[in-house]
Amino acid sequence: MQDDKGQQMYRVLKFGGSSVADATHISQVLDIVEAETSLGQVVLVASAISGATDALLAGEGLDALEQRHMRIIRRLFTGAERASAEEEMRGLFLSMKAAPAEERVTFGEIFSTRILERKLRTDGISAAWLDSRKLIIKGSREATVRNIRAAVCDVQVMVAPGFICGTPEGGVSTLGRGGSDYSAAIYAAALGAESLQIWTDVPGIMTANPRQVPAARTIPSMSYRTALEMASHGAKVLYAPTVAPAMESGIAIEIRNTFAPAGGKTVISGAAPDMMGLASVKVDGRSIITLVGCVDADTAVRSLKAAGIDPKSVKADGAGNLEVAVLPEVEVPALRALHRTFFETLPQKEICLFVAGAGAVGKALLELIDRSAQSVLERTGKRLKVIGLGRSGGYNIDLSGIRGLSTPMQGDYVDDFCRIAPRGSVFVDCTTSETLYTRYEQLLRRGINIVSSNRRSFAVPYVEYASMHAAARESGAFFRYETTVGAALPVLESISRGTNSCEEVLAIEAVVSCTLNQILGAYDGRTATFASLVKAAQDSGLTEADPRADLMGRDALRKLLILGREAGVQLEASDVEVSPLIPSNLGSVSLEQFYRALEDMEPRFREAVDDALENGCRLRFVASLEKQDDGSYLSGIGVRAVAPGHPAYHLKGTENAILVRSSFHPLPIVIAGPGEGALQAASSILNDILR
Ligand code: ASP
Ligand code: MG
Repeated sequence: MQDDKGQQMYRVLKFGGSSVADATHISQVLDIVEAETSLGQVVLVASAISGATDALLAGEGLDALEQRHMRIIRRLFTGAERASAEEEMRGLFLSMKAAPAEERVTFGEIFSTRILERKLRTDGISAAWLDSRKLIIKGSREATVRNIRAAVCDVQVMVAPGFICGTPEGGVSTLGRGGSDYSAAIYAAALGAESLQIWTDVPGIMTANPRQVPAARTIPSMSYRTALEMASHGAKVLYAPTVAPAMESGIAIEIRNTFAPAGGKTVISGAAPDMMGLASVKVDGRSIITLVGCVDADTAVRSLKAAGIDPKSVKADGAGNLEVAVLPEVEVPALRALHRTFFETLPQKEICLFVAGAGAVGKALLELIDRSAQSVLERTGKRLKVIGLGRSGGYNIDLSGIRGLSTPMQGDYVDDFCRIAPRGSVFVDCTTSETLYTRYEQLLRRGINIVSSNRRSFAVPYVEYASMHAAARESGAFFRYETTVGAALPVLESISRGTNSCEEVLAIEAVVSCTLNQILGAYDGRTATFASLVKAAQDSGLTEADPRADLMGRDALRKLLILGREAGVQLEASDVEVSPLIPSNLGSVSLEQFYRALEDMEPRFREAVDDALENGCRLRFVASLEKQDDGSYLSGIGVRAVAPGHPAYHLKGTENAILVRSSFHPLPIVIAGPGEGALQAASSILNDILR
């Protein structure tokens, strides 16, 4: 194949020892090579089969080595071709044994490449064998280039042994351990090859040696400089001298994996940026780890210390790298610690927060953020930053983050936050305000996300609820309020997931009033009067400021509105038939009068509980919604006796249970568990912020 000036186009492919280790691997190599012949004339440079060079240098296991080659031959060839290959190999081994000891090492590449060349020919590919010992002359670049250019011939694949070369005096020598890569670069440079591919057993040059650091990943492209630094500081994937000839002739080096040809690879070129990577070598009883392309000693030392490793020395090498010496026993843990710190951190994203409300939930949230910001950062790459706090006495806003409480500012914190907060910030409503929701749209339209635990914001007329959602949709901001029903229980998420997939909710039963669950759960008509249990709940802060709101079912109503709307039903408060536990005229009397009236009602409560117990049931305060045959929804709230088969029967204390029956799930899905608690609410808010 020729370029447009009629010049021959060469592609140099080099395969390492593990790529030619046995017949199976050799077949894989030849598949790659044969495919490449359609793109240009190939120079195939190969190493000796793995382990051969070591055996030849040691002069040990030579018979076994011969057997390995014979086995490969028997697998690859049949008939006369096999006999001829066996005879050639026997001859080569005899020559090797007869050669001077220091020359024996040069035979490994001859063994392997003779087999490759023969196999190509028997596959019907025109091939020739180049004798690198005569072409590559150590220390004489000119002669080498001249020799190689004169030796090329018109075949599809020229096969050349790597590693070995000649001397100016006519002897044989090598290019150094691992030198086959260099041989390939010398051939490529001499021929002005259009492609130089080093095929090995890892997917390119990686951030660290994957055998030592499992989390290592391929660096897709890097400069010649980085490749040279990695190779000369111990990365075995590439022999360092390889880089110079490629760089001088401007040929990109591709490092590819023979065993996963379509997987990761590294392209080394002049156009690519300098990159970072980890390499290590053992020198004089120490492991020298080099952070190539990085001189951040502080971070490196902190990372090692955190892993309990004491670096023996840390110094920048003057070439933009950091050299860290450690004891060889801790080389692998040190590499892993450094890799984690420098390569496994997620890109950071700052999330600016405004927290409105300094009640129990707001306080718990700030504490939780304080406590978990670091682990959130490590786990998700998100840096939580509280830049605003709003309470009844005023507010603070500081874009660089709030530290401690300074004198609060007076005024409209929503306006102020909208003015300074970056898009994508989160406004967290932990208040119990009845009116703050009227500002949500303004925030959402500014691209500020909202997370709210304030259920009053959602028990508003349906049009207002819908218009807040429209504002969120249009600006792309998120609007989440999982905490408003069942605290940390994933209730709304489960319902809206169904709604999103066009699943139709047929019925909801929610036992979600923590206060009434606690009171009704404890009430047996004997141990304590109903009124005294209400009083106890009020004293322990479990009821609303005025316990009548709970007994009237106001809190349960809000939750039912949220649940119904989340399920796609345009529910209004006036649609819900509420059967309060107390008559409405008790709403306007004093608290004392109310408690007295409640004591007077004791016989009625006792009768209800006796009835229930007699039938094996328990009293629960249930909010429900059910689709009727005509397509409308019937909804109600009130005390019901539930039988042992009902999920709410076994609830204890302030636990909640929500049953959802839908077109996809005729048997109800039940979500049950703890339904209150400031910490639970805070964790649910945090989840809304982060998910
Ligand atoms: N076979 C030689 C060695 O093991 C050269 C090479 O594989 O690159 O060092
Ligand atoms: Mg190698």
